[in-house]
Amino acid sequence: MENCIFCRIIRGEIPSAKVYEDEHVVAFKDINPATPVHVLVVPKTHISSLEGLNGENIENVVHIHRAIKKVAEITGINKDGYRVIVNCGEGAGQTVFHLHYHVLGGTKLNEKII
Ligand code: 5GP
Ligand code: ZN
Repeated sequence: MENCIFCRIIRGEIPSAKVYEDEHVVAFKDINPATPVHVLVVPKTHISSLEGLNGENIENVVHIHRAIKKVAEITGINKDGYRVIVNCGEGAGQTVFHLHYHVLGGTKLNEKII
């Protein structure tokens, strides 16, 4: 996807603060962090959102979740706890249409999600 921001980050055309990378995913710091640790985990293949998952690309979910655990360990937020959020669709506040998981931590999070 030529103009997708996250595809451009994956290709190295836009700089990012990478936290973790493997064959399937990249994890980098959110440019506008909501919490002291705020990392985005994205598949290297362009998938627009959770709604873009299908039988051909569903294995990315496993790769993403494995990477989330690595990110939590690398950043140290696995000790006190962290929250994972996926906004799916404009109505849920999704602004970048390349599937991404927000990994949030480094502070005490409110028990209420919204
Ligand atoms: P969404 O609202 O789609 O769930 O989340 C998109 C996230 O991407 C936002 O938290 C926003 O701060 C982040 N973001 C948007 N553009 C960039 C960018 O160029 N670099 C990085 N590191 N994060 C970005
Ligand atoms: Zn993309």
